[in-house]
Amino acid sequence: MPNASIIAVGTELLFGQTVNTNAAYVSEQLQLLGISVLYHFTVGDNPGRMKRTLALAFEESDIVVTTGGLGPTQDDITKEMIAEQMGAPLEFDEEAMARLDAIMRDIGRGNYTENNKKQAYLPRGCTVFYNNAGTAPGFALEAGGKTAIALPGPPREMKRMMQESAIPYLAGKSDSVIFSKMLRFYGIGESALETALLPIIDGQTDPTAAPYAKEGECAVRVTSMRRTAQEAEAAVGGAIEQARALAGAYLYSTEDEEYHEVVVRLLRERGLVLCCAESCTGGLFAGAITSVPGSSEVFDRGFVTYSNEAKVALLGVSKETIDRYGAVSEPCCREMALGALARSRADIAVAVTGIAGPSGDTCGKPVGTGYYGIAWAGGVEVHERYFRNRGRRVNRSAAVLELCDTIRRKLEGAGGPPEKKILT
Ligand code: AMP
Ligand code: MG
Repeated sequence: MPNASIIAVGTELLFGQTVNTNAAYVSEQLQLLGISVLYHFTVGDNPGRMKRTLALAFEESDIVVTTGGLGPTQDDITKEMIAEQMGAPLEFDEEAMARLDAIMRDIGRGNYTENNKKQAYLPRGCTVFYNNAGTAPGFALEAGGKTAIALPGPPREMKRMMQESAIPYLAGKSDSVIFSKMLRFYGIGESALETALLPIIDGQTDPTAAPYAKEGECAVRVTSMRRTAQEAEAAVGGAIEQARALAGAYLYSTEDEEYHEVVVRLLRERGLVLCCAESCTGGLFAGAITSVPGSSEVFDRGFVTYSNEAKVALLGVSKETIDRYGAVSEPCCREMALGALARSRADIAVAVTGIAGPSGDTCGKPVGTGYYGIAWAGGVEVHERYFRNRGRRVNRSAAVLELCDTIRRKLEGAGGPPEKKILT
């Protein structure tokens, strides 16, 4: 299998003004193609240093992917440097020029300025990657058993060209097919998950399972590279079954869905309607649910009851309960869930009350403490959950994930999903 290095070109990267996200993206995509990435280089818009970086990258790797420096201005020299390095003179490309003309007409800048024309020159013998998201074309160029891939700097253009042109080009050079799935887990830490999945992660060459830490959850990408798509899919399917056996309780999606998307799907499949009562999340949960297309079928309403008065007035929480146990308490959460269920046409109501921070409360409960309730026609359950304080924003997102988890566990739990509420 070939290996690769990535050169990110741009002085702004060295200044720290722009974060080099391109290298991360290209690396991930190359890995998916079974191409190992050996080096990330970052170099400014400087001919001498770029020349030496290119030489070094080619010495060390079969494929060199560059991003940036393909634009029309004086400091954009990546193409020129690659052409020189690989002994391919720049030639005028009619199609590139026609495309530039069309873009310039579209954006109403009239005729191109002379420096724009520079983008229509491409190394002799290259495969042109026309840019469907901007002006600068990229290309692939082969010489002496080495391959250069030049991509534009702006991440949006780079990603599109990577997907539409560079990946098919590189895949065409290999006789194998890649298939991968992103598994999403909640409620288990990254190291615990890695330990649980060790039989799949350790010593496996195909399929591979690569863990990713995400905010408040974990993801694992399972990838197989085989001779046919069927073989690769079957290998990934086998690994997913294994993952299910090892850590199935925490696995909420094998399709890289967000947790709130899964919740909407599960509710739809069961024909159940949801409502929520939120304190510390202030509507964040309702926002997440309603960001999913089709959520109107499964979401009735959300109560944002931030103050004690609102909990009493909108949900019928008793003032005595709040006085006695505090708003962040199991009894208050229970009354919130039951109150929301009674005051809506939903079959299931969830409630959350917690301390989002950053500063601690009252009543001796640490920031990150929350109570999560779920009520349905046949009952109500409340649990306490403590998340290590990671700042207000993360604390609130964690509470949203926990609510999603509360719903999924109820819907998929051993007791079966709750009955539909009979509306009177
Ligand atoms: P260029 O193609 O070099 O003119 O780059 C245009 C713009 O793309 C730069 O101003 C940056 O904002 C962005 N850019 C370039 N290289 C990178 C990179 N490696 N990662 C993220 N953004 C980049
Ligand atoms: Mg630049």
